[in-house]
Amino acid sequence: MTTQCDNLPGMMAHAGWTTARVIEQQQLAADTYRLRLHCPEAARTIMPGQFFMVRPEGGTDPLLGRPFALYDTADGDDGPEAIDFVYHVIGKMTGLMSEWNGGEAVEFWGPLGNGYPVPQCRHLMYIGGGIGYTPVLAVAREALGHRSYGQPARSRERKAERVTLCYGVRSSDHCADLSDLEGVEGLTILLATDDGSAGHHGLVTDLLDESLASDDAPDAVYCCGPLPMMYAVGRICEQAGVDCWLSLESPMACGFGACFSCVTRVRTDDPDGWDYRRTCVEGPVFRATELVLD
Ligand SMILES: Cc1cc2nc3c(=O)[nH]c(=O)nc-3n(C[C@H](O)[C@H](O)[C@H](O)COP(=O)(O)OP(=O)(O)OC[C@H]3O[C@@H](n4cnc5c(N)ncnc54)[C@H](O)[C@@H]3O)c2cc1C
Repeated sequence: MTTQCDNLPGMMAHAGWTTARVIEQQQLAADTYRLRLHCPEAARTIMPGQFFMVRPEGGTDPLLGRPFALYDTADGDDGPEAIDFVYHVIGKMTGLMSEWNGGEAVEFWGPLGNGYPVPQCRHLMYIGGGIGYTPVLAVAREALGHRSYGQPARSRERKAERVTLCYGVRSSDHCADLSDLEGVEGLTILLATDDGSAGHHGLVTDLLDESLASDDAPDAVYCCGPLPMMYAVGRICEQAGVDCWLSLESPMACGFGACFSCVTRVRTDDPDGWDYRRTCVEGPVFRATELVLD
């Protein structure tokens, strides 16, 4: 497995807030919504695993934007013109967002962060815990050659023979509507629930262990979800010698590297053995072997 990291965009973000309009909002599961924003410039440049900040237009409560990852881009007559993201309602901003209707003007800043590298492998596994499953649609469509992202567009050549999503949720009630993913040729979906109400009864990492012990082991793993789950995935892959990339969802205030509220610990050769990196600009995607996994 090789990964092309030289095309990661790093700080190539729009230099400030712009106005975007809500095109549509759809409920996918309890407290889970997909929002489509009309923002052609960002839709043309954004890549899988990148994120953006969103906040209400002209408001001061909440004052700070909130980060959301790309779910997918949508085309208009002249190519990509809208960005979809899927969010879970957990607090003030996401509660407000769930009331946004078509035509609403909102503030948008992005794309931000680095995104996942372009995979070059046979079998790519994406492990998503809870709402962390959302980047898989764009990741899989790019890896399987169904869609290209970025400007200049990253290659549309098929890069992986197959992609498996291992999706872990507490119970079947927390499972999002996966119909967007079910239509992607080459993508297999495996479900794990903590209570056994659907799919495998147990942790989503059990599915990774099983796959690593099989003839069809993944040769690269991408992952996003709760931190303990991501650290477990990172440790399993490190032991198995499988290339693994984790997308951290550290709470962040600014999104462009100024506030240092989202730092994570990376391994270094310093006497202490670690240092801080900002998730918003040096991430959110890190190679698991770079991180302090505890
Ligand atoms: C790079 C990145 C990408 C993200 N992508 C998505 C996405 O695609 N979909 C999605 O639903 N969410 C995503 N998140 C998380 C999302 O930003 C938070 O859920 C959102 O900021 C909550 O805002 P709020 O005002 O509704 O909640 P708040 O009122 O700010 O917080 C409510 C509660 O949630 C906790 N909380 C807030 N943010 C986080 C977090 N990041 N991790 C753990 N606990 C948190 C708070 O401490 C508080 O207890 C992402 C986060 C990052 C950093």
